[in-house]
Amino acid sequence: MAESDNPTFKEQFLDPVAGFGVTFRTMFKKVVTEQYPFEKMPTAPRFHGRHQLNRWPDGLEKCIGCELCAWACPADAIYVEGASNSDAADGERFSPGERYGRVYQINYLRCILCGLCIEACPTRALTMTNEYELADNNRADLIYEKSDLLAPLLPGMEQPPHPMMLGDDEGAYYRGEFAAPAPGSAASQQGSEG
Ligand code: SF4
Ligand code: SF4
Repeated sequence: MAESDNPTFKEQFLDPVAGFGVTFRTMFKKVVTEQYPFEKMPTAPRFHGRHQLNRWPDGLEKCIGCELCAWACPADAIYVEGASNSDAADGERFSPGERYGRVYQINYLRCILCGLCIEACPTRALTMTNEYELADNNRADLIYEKSDLLAPLLPGMEQPPHPMMLGDDEGAYYRGEFAAPAPGSAASQQGSEG
């Protein structure tokens, strides 16, 4: 006769009671279920969420279209096309320096939020926010364009294209050797003069 045909006293009586014991004890413990999406819990401060393309204090874009982020990405999720800035009368300036990111896309169907791209960025143009709600009901909307990723304009910033507005020269601009643009703004006045 097989061993399983003769359950022991423990298997027959104590084991089922022990199982119910776990259920019974758990009934009196504090509930840990999170009521998402009705209650949103804060993330860890360094949580890797949606990316952001940052700006200089006058509103110019920090991205110089160098594509280093795209090369660093293990998931091939970033697409960048650079273009030249120009201070000529018929030209446009979107960032300090020679070039800017004319096209910038991140494909969140591919991105694994590893953060290698932000480590590769030489200008700290690309950082990551704590925003984690990156779901949608179609694939196209999960390819974020530059307009979706650019940081909002803060008080004192002006929508590019416009010349570099702060500091006495490029060195002062990059080193931040200027008074912070006042809301409203000192930067705007310099811009209209330049
Ligand atoms: S977080 Fe990682 S996977 Fe996502 S775009 Fe950056 S490098 Fe690529
Ligand atoms: S985000 Fe940074 S690394 Fe990527 S293209 Fe712009 S400047 Fe280069």
